[in-house]
Amino acid sequence: MLDHTESNRLANEARQVIVGGVNSPSRSFKGVGGGDPVTMVKGDGAYLFDVDGNRYIDYLAAFGPIITGFNHPHIVEAIKRSAETGVLFGTPTEHEIKFAKMLTDAIPSMDKVRFTNSGTEAVMSTIRVARAYTNRELIVKFSGAYHGHFDLVLVEAGSGPSTLGASDSAGVTNGTAKEVITVPFNQVEPFKQVMEKWGHQVAAVLVEPIIGNFGMVAPVPGFLEAVNEIAHEFGALVIYDEVITNFRFRYGAAQDMLGVIPDLTAFGKSIGGGLPIGAYGGPDKIMNTVAPLGPAYQAGTMAGNPLSMQAGIACLEVLQEPGIYERMANFAEQLKDALLAAGTAHNIPTVVNQIGGSLTVYFSEHPVVNYEDAKNTDSERFGRFFKLMLDEGINLAPSKFEAWFLTIMHTQKDIDDTIVAINNAFSKLT
Ligand code: PMP
Repeated sequence: MLDHTESNRLANEARQVIVGGVNSPSRSFKGVGGGDPVTMVKGDGAYLFDVDGNRYIDYLAAFGPIITGFNHPHIVEAIKRSAETGVLFGTPTEHEIKFAKMLTDAIPSMDKVRFTNSGTEAVMSTIRVARAYTNRELIVKFSGAYHGHFDLVLVEAGSGPSTLGASDSAGVTNGTAKEVITVPFNQVEPFKQVMEKWGHQVAAVLVEPIIGNFGMVAPVPGFLEAVNEIAHEFGALVIYDEVITNFRFRYGAAQDMLGVIPDLTAFGKSIGGGLPIGAYGGPDKIMNTVAPLGPAYQAGTMAGNPLSMQAGIACLEVLQEPGIYERMANFAEQLKDALLAAGTAHNIPTVVNQIGGSLTVYFSEHPVVNYEDAKNTDSERFGRFFKLMLDEGINLAPSKFEAWFLTIMHTQKDIDDTIVAINNAFSKLT
């Protein structure tokens, strides 16, 4: 067993002054049966080091953003440069222009971009813009998708396609809940029924084109195409939440890989080199709705700050290196094969959804293609697996609904060591 004495002491201390000891609920170990989260002190490449001196091969990647590893020299250099020349001016800078050009060049559906400080802000802004542009109020989204922590997207219908949503979080008004309809992912029919009933009032359909929030789940063939077609038939916009998927599978957005193009897109996580970031964008005709050009107000003291911009530019420069996406995908495939083989060897029903350099392991007899499937997988066994892996020196996301993310810093040796850890963990899992 790894020694976590100091980490546990700090977890107790944290609980005295920080709600639940964490600044984001998903960092707690609630999703893996409880216990104290590990306090980390240092990241280096693909490794994290905790306060007790233990080293972990990390696949959490800070829930996605750390695609270039923890301290890539090119990004460190950019952050230092920014620190030395002023991290915030409250005026335009050339960095914003350069970064915006890099994004609009990489993502053809986007003429114009706006930077925000988080994925939440980016998605929230796309919804305001869609409502302003269409002069409609309703939003349709898919169950189990996560779009940030603003009121509207914390609404989960749950009761099928024919009722309007009920709030999922205390503090979200019933009025807000009535503005959102949630339907199952990967099923065209319920979506179609909703649009036939309410389509003419729907401002936008909000989609994670590849789900990252009940594990990694790919759209079934034809699903995204049908969503686009039906939404547009009723005059609704399609918003892609690419906060996880941007620059995760390729240099650019997932939409171009999937060949289905939305009207607006929200970005975050991997574009910032680990710094706070979000962005949203689309064609001129829609983005011109945003202030100061148009009536949809959206702003931010820190938005487009020189620090995040320079880190983001450096990050995208690193991600242009040939072969890195293929390499991450190859490593993820090796991990998938090892997980499935271990499942077979130990007679533990195991499902792995792997997409490029990301994967999710579920303990289940059945494939996982929607939220219901993911909810029905074995949570208790996942919790034990997570803790066994942690004890083997492998840091995963503490929830069965999250993903493992490869970074460009992982080596073949890391993968080999992880496979040994997987086999050890599975041998104790039955
Ligand atoms: N959209 C998606 C798809 C996400 O996964 C997340 C964060 N997990 C968000 C939006 C919100 O981003 P942030 O946490 O940066 O506000």
